[in-house]
Amino acid sequence: MDLGKGIRAALAKITGATLVDEKAVKELTRELQRALISNDVNVKLVLELTKKIEKRAIEEKPLAGFSLREHVIKVVFEELQKLLGEKYEPKLGKQRILLCGLFGAGKSTSVAKIAKFYQGKGLRVAVIAADVHRPAAFDQLKQLSELVKTGFYGVKGEKNAVKIAQDGRKALEKEYDVVILDSAGRSGFDEELVRELREVNNVFAPDEKILVVSADVGQVAGKQAQQFSEALGGLTGVIVTKMDGSGKGGGALSSVAVSGSKIAFIGTGEKPTDFEVFDAEKFVGNLV
Ligand code: GDP
Repeated sequence: MDLGKGIRAALAKITGATLVDEKAVKELTRELQRALISNDVNVKLVLELTKKIEKRAIEEKPLAGFSLREHVIKVVFEELQKLLGEKYEPKLGKQRILLCGLFGAGKSTSVAKIAKFYQGKGLRVAVIAADVHRPAAFDQLKQLSELVKTGFYGVKGEKNAVKIAQDGRKALEKEYDVVILDSAGRSGFDEELVRELREVNNVFAPDEKILVVSADVGQVAGKQAQQFSEALGGLTGVIVTKMDGSGKGGGALSSVAVSGSKIAFIGTGEKPTDFEVFDAEKFVGNLV
């Protein structure tokens, strides 16, 4: 079920109830549980959330000027926002950004999206093609960089990602404000990936370490965030892509938030402009 539709159905239990009482609140939370669980949100997390909503909705006094109905809806919105974490505040200055993620997560597409985002803030952006394991990655990133008009550093055929990171940094740092490195993905998280990422991390010394995950993986996103965070000594943010077409977006977002990483941006389509800074309040507001 589409998450927004599920939440709307849950809220309808209150907006349509003749009497806003404990029974109506419980009907709302049951419907909400169904919507969240079918969107792959962790069951334990859903139960904790709905328990909190019930408690607050029933025990708290509505704020002055709020009807009981409005109070219950406000509690639902606030608790959903809390589940998804805080608003991300991108730094708007000179910086190096390391992007990591597994194959197919949308990493290369996200490089172009981030580039466009920072260009829109008046910054000069360049990208480094250090995804040395996927044969088509170099050409794909080069094309994307031409499409969004960024600086580019890459050496076709070079298999040493650490050397590319080092040389790319040197070549681009003076001329550009934001340098984004597209690191190599893998089909799964393994030791080889960790070793390479750590070395690239050392020579590139990024200000931002951002993981790209696809909403399609649902709550596995949280596990990936935890693994990459351990490998890199912390992530500064996570991009959740494919929020436009996935029935598991709620699971992906909430599990990342629970893992302790911040959701930085979300991808909402294939085009470089299908991208937004993550703001839980706005996100939940737009769902309903
Ligand atoms: P990588 O292997 O992680 O570099 O993945 P790519 O950037 O090549 O993306 C894999 C596929 O997902 C491509 O077909 C992209 O167009 C698509 N994709 C990436 N981000 C999004 C998104 O936010 N929404 C949708 N619908 N498709 C996306």
